[in-house]
Amino acid sequence: MPSLDNYSTKLLLDIKDANLTFSHFYYASDHFTKILVAELALPLNTCPNCQANLVHNGHYVSRLHYLALDASKPLQIELHKQRLYCRNCRHSFMANSSLVDKFCFISNPVKQKVIHDLTADRSLTEIAQANNVSANTVLRTFTRFKKLPQVDDYDYLPEHIGVDEFRGVGRQLHFICVNGDTHEIIKILPTRFKKDITAFFAKFPATLRSKVKTITMDLNAYYQDLAYALFPNAQVIIDRFHIVQMLNRSFNQLRVQTMKQFKHSDRRYILLKYHWKSYLKPYEQLEAKQPRYYQHLKDRLTQEQIVEEGLCINPKLRATYDLMQDFRLALTKHDSEQMANLFNQHIDVGPQMKITLRTFKRNRQAVLNAAVFKYSNGCVEGTNRRIKQIQRTAYGYRNFSNMVARINLEAKNAVLKENTLSITA
Ligand SMILES: [Zn+2]
Repeated sequence: MPSLDNYSTKLLLDIKDANLTFSHFYYASDHFTKILVAELALPLNTCPNCQANLVHNGHYVSRLHYLALDASKPLQIELHKQRLYCRNCRHSFMANSSLVDKFCFISNPVKQKVIHDLTADRSLTEIAQANNVSANTVLRTFTRFKKLPQVDDYDYLPEHIGVDEFRGVGRQLHFICVNGDTHEIIKILPTRFKKDITAFFAKFPATLRSKVKTITMDLNAYYQDLAYALFPNAQVIIDRFHIVQMLNRSFNQLRVQTMKQFKHSDRRYILLKYHWKSYLKPYEQLEAKQPRYYQHLKDRLTQEQIVEEGLCINPKLRATYDLMQDFRLALTKHDSEQMANLFNQHIDVGPQMKITLRTFKRNRQAVLNAAVFKYSNGCVEGTNRRIKQIQRTAYGYRNFSNMVARINLEAKNAVLKENTLSITA
């Protein structure tokens, strides 16, 4: 059997255990698995119980699975653990290594690698294959990691919080809140029920909650009541993008209604249907100089001309369009006064826009805050998108805590710090 240089083998395998000595290697009967043979010494001279001299009592041989450069060529370590026996008190002692847990054949470096792989957007089967372990082992390692005490700090709350919800286990809506500045996930709750959210935030002392400055959310009156009750000094901000989205939707509804009055071949139908994107663009960004030839209109027009002509079809459509654009402009210019004025311009606008305006008016201060503060719910939306991806990779989750553990694991802040987390615990 070919011999091994102990020093370089340990260096390459990144093993620091001084009691471990590699001697030689051989191939398993499958011709692929390389087996490195090592002796694990037990540095004891006298019995820890009775101080009597110990005698050698052979070795306990176990094979353990180790990290391989190439998953198609597995690597195993045949560990010969030294055993010592005390004739006086009849105790026997066996060498132990941090390389592997008792009764386990998967070395800890492999488990650490699995945990590391779990931080990426990969499915359990994929990770299992890359590490030459079974999917069950990956799941077990993950579950073990999950069970480590998760520190729930109730002595810190960020000043700016974003709240939202997402659909997860069993098509249920889960409540999520993130730090508005660092975008870290503060908490994911299994439900979005009022009592659960209140119970969670009630764990934070009132002095901490009173220091929260802003809460960003969608136009969901439900969360607003909660925010005012839980965070007495916080300003509620309606997410900018959500406001724009509501305006766009209101305009689109009227556009489609107007469009449907005409035949498909009608120029007005074409103007409203095929150029829908131009209407939603900021007016000042429309191409006004360079005309283009449009086959279906049989005309050379600029983007601006298309929009202008389309809006001429219906005065209501124009009023709705102007309102949408003015709102957007006031938002980007952080002009809350201008926005407040717009609340009352509802005479000629479409029915859906009227409803939207009424909603805005009902949440007047929160909507105006969108222009005052720089915070938006973009960070929560981003997190939600990532969560969706995690769920898709896993083909959905059936277990809420599994899902949350994986989300936290994949979140940037959960990147493993070796010194704080050890799966050998
Ligand atoms: Zn003894």
